[in-house]
Amino acid sequence: MNTENTTPEAITKNVVAMFHYTLHNEAGDEVENSRAGDPIAYLHGYGNVIPGLEKAMEGKAPGESFEVTVAPEEGYGVRQENNSQRVPIKHLMEWQESKGKVKIRPGMVVAVNTEQGVRQVTVVKVGKFNVDVDTNHPLAGKTLTFKVDVVELRAASDSEISHGHAHGPGGHHHD
Ligand code: ZN
Repeated sequence: MNTENTTPEAITKNVVAMFHYTLHNEAGDEVENSRAGDPIAYLHGYGNVIPGLEKAMEGKAPGESFEVTVAPEEGYGVRQENNSQRVPIKHLMEWQESKGKVKIRPGMVVAVNTEQGVRQVTVVKVGKFNVDVDTNHPLAGKTLTFKVDVVELRAASDSEISHGHAHGPGGHHHD
């Protein structure tokens, strides 16, 4: 069967799904919202979104809206204690991009370039040359509620399947 040019009717493995979402924490505060920009595009079945969201997306059709509440274990993980790490202030992306002009303060969520790629961390303490950061993901330990609108589906290309992620608008861009 040739499925190359058929538009998938529901989200399943090897489908690229485009969706908008609003994310609320347990207190009901809005944490993230995609609606100001293009929909997010991801390749389903490859762990490109947190497990709890990916499970809830399975089988959904374009135009469908739903709400799902995700526990930390199915989200950004449980908070680890003693995850403090000292990093040179010049390794912070915010510091690099502002050429040292930005004032780094405790409580700020900053991006650090690590061997595993860019990571979001929270500043705990600021020294002259180093900062102590908490390496837990800022949403670790949080129960999260997603309001999702499925916008559009398409079959993934061979290169997307071999890379394990979506390409093009809302997806992954290669240099
Ligand atoms: Zn790729």
